Amino acid sequence: MSFFTPEQEDVLYKMHRKEPDFQENIDFLKNSLGTFVSQKVAPLAWENDTKEIFSEENFKALGELGFFAMPYPEEFGGLEVDFSYYCAGLETLSKGDAGFTLGVAIHGTVCDGICRFANDELKKEFLPDLITARKIASFGLSEAGSGSDAKSLRTSYRYDAQKNEYVLNGSKFWITNALSADVFFIMAINEEGGQISSFIVTKGGEGEFTQNPITDKMGVRGSNTAELVFDNYRIPARNLVGEEGRGFNYAMEMLNGGRITIAAWSVGIAQGAYEKLLKYSHERALFGRLLKDLDNTKKELSEMAIEIAASRELSYNAGFYKNHSNIARHAAIAKVKSTEVAVYVSERAIELAGGYGYLKESRIERHLRDALLGRIGEGANEVLKIMVIPRIIYNNYDKRPITEIW
Ligand SMILES: Cc1cc2nc3c(=O)[nH]c(=O)nc-3n(C[C@H](O)[C@H](O)[C@H](O)COP(=O)(O)OP(=O)(O)OC[C@H]3O[C@@H](n4cnc5c(N)ncnc54)[C@H](O)[C@@H]3O)c2cc1C
Repeated sequence: MSFFTPEQEDVLYKMHRKEPDFQENIDFLKNSLGTFVSQKVAPLAWENDTKEIFSEENFKALGELGFFAMPYPEEFGGLEVDFSYYCAGLETLSKGDAGFTLGVAIHGTVCDGICRFANDELKKEFLPDLITARKIASFGLSEAGSGSDAKSLRTSYRYDAQKNEYVLNGSKFWITNALSADVFFIMAINEEGGQISSFIVTKGGEGEFTQNPITDKMGVRGSNTAELVFDNYRIPARNLVGEEGRGFNYAMEMLNGGRITIAAWSVGIAQGAYEKLLKYSHERALFGRLLKDLDNTKKELSEMAIEIAASRELSYNAGFYKNHSNIARHAAIAKVKSTEVAVYVSERAIELAGGYGYLKESRIERHLRDALLGRIGEGANEVLKIMVIPRIIYNNYDKRPITEIW
């Protein structure tokens, strides 16, 4: 059985049907990835959620399957497939296990950042291992004292000209994959100039670099999260990503891509909760009928299906626009809508399944716990709605004002 649905294919069909590799890409999503998710990822979701385990084995297997290579250039071993296909893959994975898939999405965000902003030397050094998942990456922007207000970060760096090295001090908090990662994409502020720069950090350097687990999360428990502490930790100067002082811009651009992946991830959560309710409603008998035949169930299942379809359209559409100048708008809108839909659908699915939905055994409640993270991470929805989306709306108005009221 494949976890890839005909509804997913429909959205991709609309965008890509005329392209020569359309069927090949669908076959990959349906047969290779869809089967991998149903056979390897979904069966571990319950246990990994319960025990808080991130499956490095599945992560590596996903790399061998070629999943991470999808959107990246051929010269680094990528397949150069449109990002909307990658979104469909994330939805499929997330339906199986959103905790695991959070790690997948963040790894992808780092690959994207290196691919777009690092020099050729760093790309050649890191991308081939990352897009085959021989190495795992994490993204370190947030700190205990700076989340939404990311510019106020305190982790600092200084340049040691004698050794031609950067020296990092401070700590990062909430870092997904941080216990499994080999490659850390870190944003830090210059001790003197106050500029934020990005660095690729690896383990084994001079100085102290510690990873402290953050446990007992309410959801995404199939991912691992940690604090990273740097105490005079040295990295070679060549590990500076792009230009010094541009690190905050790079992080924000990476978060645009990240928002698209979290949108697709959320669609998978909603679809998972919906399918579980749909199945249960075909089995549960009450008042001489099946749950599925009650008017309220029909209405609510319809409303869920409509909302999921809308968020899938927005997510894959944002993927399609990933390399366009108006990506920020598509990414923010898709992220807000899809994360809200995931919470709505998983919450309603619990109630519609009655007492059974309230049991962990139904496996529906995990979707709600996972979904709630989507509204917080990659730009909290409040921040996107109060700061990012209005900025885009007002900029558009400045460029193209409505001159007459009709
Ligand atoms: C499980 C998990 C994994 C994570 N993984 C990563 C990772 O891999 N890398 C990484 O860098 N970070 C990661 N994060 C951090 C995440 O990005 C932050 O939690 C998020 O940006 C919110 O920051 P905060 O938690 O500091 O909340 P705060 O910024 O303190 O926000 C508190 C509240 O204020 C609201 N708020 C904030 N600003 C405004 C505003 N201007 N107007 C109105 N309301 C506002 C927020 O919506 C929120 O409700 C992760 C977090 C979690 C929980």
